[in-house]
Amino acid sequence: MNWDRLTVPEQRRIQNEKLHRYLTEVIAPFSPYYKKLFAEHQIDPRRIKTVEDLRQLPFTSKADLLPTSEQPEKFREFIITPDLSVLKHRPRVIAETLLRGRSAVERRFEREYRPIFLTATTGRSSLPVAFAYTDHDMRNLRTSGARLIQTFGATTEMRGVNMFPYAPHLAFWQVVFAGLEFGMLLVSSGGGKVMGTDGNISLIEKIKPEALIGIPTFVYHVIREAHAQGHKWPQVTKLVLGGERSPQGIRRKMVGLLQQMGAGDVRVCGTYGFTEGRMAWGECPPPPGKWSGYHLFPDLGIFEVIDPETGDVKGEGEPGELVYTPLDARGTVVMRYRTGDYVDGGVTWEPCPYCGRTVPRIVGKIGRASNTKELQFGKLKGTLVNFDNLQQILDDTTEIGEWQLEIRKAHDDPHDVDELILHLAPANGANMEQLKEKVRTQFQTEVELTPNRIEVHSIDDMLKRIKLESSLKEIRVLDTRPKE
Ligand SMILES: [Zn+2]
Repeated sequence: MNWDRLTVPEQRRIQNEKLHRYLTEVIAPFSPYYKKLFAEHQIDPRRIKTVEDLRQLPFTSKADLLPTSEQPEKFREFIITPDLSVLKHRPRVIAETLLRGRSAVERRFEREYRPIFLTATTGRSSLPVAFAYTDHDMRNLRTSGARLIQTFGATTEMRGVNMFPYAPHLAFWQVVFAGLEFGMLLVSSGGGKVMGTDGNISLIEKIKPEALIGIPTFVYHVIREAHAQGHKWPQVTKLVLGGERSPQGIRRKMVGLLQQMGAGDVRVCGTYGFTEGRMAWGECPPPPGKWSGYHLFPDLGIFEVIDPETGDVKGEGEPGELVYTPLDARGTVVMRYRTGDYVDGGVTWEPCPYCGRTVPRIVGKIGRASNTKELQFGKLKGTLVNFDNLQQILDDTTEIGEWQLEIRKAHDDPHDVDELILHLAPANGANMEQLKEKVRTQFQTEVELTPNRIEVHSIDDMLKRIKLESSLKEIRVLDTRPKE
């Protein structure tokens, strides 16, 4: 299907039809969780005919999936479990059985509904939750993968090295299936933990990929090391980043180093995805310093933007929390899922100014509400600090190689005030005194606070602090305060 050039009314019609069919034929009869929820709230899925009608459904959030003492395996309630006696009596299935025979139809049911694969949440803030995929979902994962590569503007002649950590996590597998479906050579290194930094560099030396794919901080680290070792990577034209935010500052640093390594025009494409959505969305290659937004797949799912306080649905282009509903999912399914991600530009249906695709796009910066912490600098009143803003400042400062923010109790006394310490390793040739002054000034102007101390380390010591090679997610904000 021509997924990316349909008019807005055509896309809306497809979404409305698919939503109605999905709710009445899959979710209401076969999802244990939503069957119960619809009964409790007296929701008749047959009356949900448009995307606007979706507002009748309550939200689902991470807390709904977590185990409780009564239900230690709560996530199982979200797995689509078909009732064969219902399925067999559908007119379409009766016709199919007559035509192809019973065992062929049973085999098709199995491929559609039996979980055969799973990825899990990374569980930094809570217990990991597993999300099951059936063969039907694997086909969708392949479809989203191929569309992602189209969005990045890559061709089948190009090669890529996938440096996402090898784990049952969406990012790694989305890339693997993207390459298989699109039909391009994509080699997975498994990331730093599997091959080490030098292993990744020598793999890139052998494969000579046009595209480097991975977590921004790790890709940056590999490029920096390869640059320091004097490698030349003139063939690199694309960086595809995911798993965490990739601010313009870190993008500029990576492109600058690659150009010193012989590369020409390098474009950076960010991606956005989350375990619960079981697919990812990407940017088309924007000119340097610009964002093109995450290009969505309107026939596979619906994004709403809501006011996080009231739950009201916001208008096009308005900021708020992203809420996701799939339109063609089996396995573990969450509807109207509150991602906890806030986007400042909302969702737009304007055609993309860079590639002309007519699909809706998530535009602006995405941040986590959980990245806001309360710090007790004085005895009386706490200060709310958004660590996304601090990360933005530090990533945008070219003279900083690596950094970490530490929150601790003054004098190691649990009853004392909080201290904010900035650990940093300067980039080559940076003047430390000027750099410290610059960071202090920027913190003061943009977030109205300054770190209590700035401690300088070597790059190697900093990498140990943030555990870039040994853990799946680097530790940028280290909170050592005793838990209440
Ligand atoms: Zn575009």
